[in-house]
Amino acid sequence: MKENDIIELLKSQDEFLKTTSKTSVENRISILKKLKASIKAHEQGIVDAIYKDFQKPEFEVLTTELFVVYKELNLFIKNLKKWSKPKSVSSAWLNFPSSDKIHYVPWGKVLVIAPWNYPFQLAITPAIGAIATGNTVVLKPSEHASYTAGVLVKIFNEVFEDQQAKIITGAVETAKILLEQKWDYVFFTGSVPVGRIVSEQIAKHMTPHTLELGGKNPCIVDSTAKIDVTAKRICWGKFLNAGQTCIAPDYLIIDSKIKDEFQKKLISSLKEFYSETSYKDYTRLIHDSHFEKLTGFLKDQNIIYGGESDAETNFLAPTLVDSPDLSSPLMNEEIFGPILPLYSYSTFDELEEMITSFEKPLSLYVFSERKDFVKQVNEKFDFGGGVINDTIVHFVNDKLPFGGVGASGVGNYHGRASFNTFTRQKPIVNRKTWLDIPIKYPPYNRVNSFK
Ligand code: NAD
Repeated sequence: MKENDIIELLKSQDEFLKTTSKTSVENRISILKKLKASIKAHEQGIVDAIYKDFQKPEFEVLTTELFVVYKELNLFIKNLKKWSKPKSVSSAWLNFPSSDKIHYVPWGKVLVIAPWNYPFQLAITPAIGAIATGNTVVLKPSEHASYTAGVLVKIFNEVFEDQQAKIITGAVETAKILLEQKWDYVFFTGSVPVGRIVSEQIAKHMTPHTLELGGKNPCIVDSTAKIDVTAKRICWGKFLNAGQTCIAPDYLIIDSKIKDEFQKKLISSLKEFYSETSYKDYTRLIHDSHFEKLTGFLKDQNIIYGGESDAETNFLAPTLVDSPDLSSPLMNEEIFGPILPLYSYSTFDELEEMITSFEKPLSLYVFSERKDFVKQVNEKFDFGGGVINDTIVHFVNDKLPFGGVGASGVGNYHGRASFNTFTRQKPIVNRKTWLDIPIKYPPYNRVNSFK
């Protein structure tokens, strides 16, 4: 879309925001129902498109792309009326008599920029929150998941007038043009370096925003962890979507007393999950340059399992690497692929030194049966969200706000947190006129009563 067309589109979205009949809560609930029906009708198309984009297995699409979106839609359909009601709060005695309320109002025009790794869910979930709360949306999906972007366009064209919500496809140049416009809110999901660029771009308009970014998520395995289930839960959370998950464990740090034994368990879990089926239930890497980057990470590393790759199909097997040098490219940035480095620790100080050598992560996982150890870990380290004795599952509880801290993100969303993100709290004090206490008016003869 050309810049002039984008400017015209935004003018029409401004008009939409003024049309109260279209932005009523009832209208928004019925549009969410329409969106749900359209997604249902395109379910097979979504499964096929994501498979074409990077061979994500159908089961993973149904669970990690569709199920969570339906859950979000159902939650908003059920609660929107209740959540949207102005909230009464007690008044300040200085204002007596008054009735005070917080009103929840939309920001206005929202820009959503999405990544490719969960190309349906990460595009549509923020859009649901924004539309439900009465904003208009322009959504730019990732250029690297173009089949999925095609289905998103079909769904949006079926459900929305452009002036309410519109998809604009394109790559970096399109994103840059979009970011030059004046938005009322920007919701960005993607990498830390691009998050910084987005943040700089929108600073000139001081646009409120959410940045859902990434980082190096530690996963700690204490000597008391139940190692069979621990190995399975780590392999599942790490190698789902071939490790291309923002909250996947980035590296393991295992109590040295159990490292050798635990390593064997990881290998047997990986054999059980994938090798018998020739990696049928295993996603491919998104594109050639990601393949080249990740296989490049493996040069001169001590690979203890996996490492096989196929450039034709962008396949990289689940791979375990022993204690890579912390200055190696593998440890210099978020891995975001099926490579799991294994380290060991003997003291809490060693654990602390390792984890705090990186920026604050999006998530942290700790496997242990010792309550005091878990408490110490959760209190010592700062991270966006975490799980005790599992990986990545905090994402599915819509009662938990989801987001990062420091370099891993700004703000959060999901469920009620999305409602809060996409609305502004507008406080209004309604003063009554049946009584007017004159104490505040000049001349100030009563100054002594305040001493
Ligand atoms: P990316 O940052 O490369 O791209 C994300 C989006 O930004 C795309 O739509 C892209 O077109 C756009 N973009 C790229 N360069 C831009 C620029 N210079 N200016 C403006 N927009 C630009 O990220 P990606 O490769 O699509 O996704 C992977 C990253 O996203 C990982 O770092 C991962 O951790 C993170 N991620 C975070 C979450 C989360 O919820 N916190 C979820 C998924 C992915």
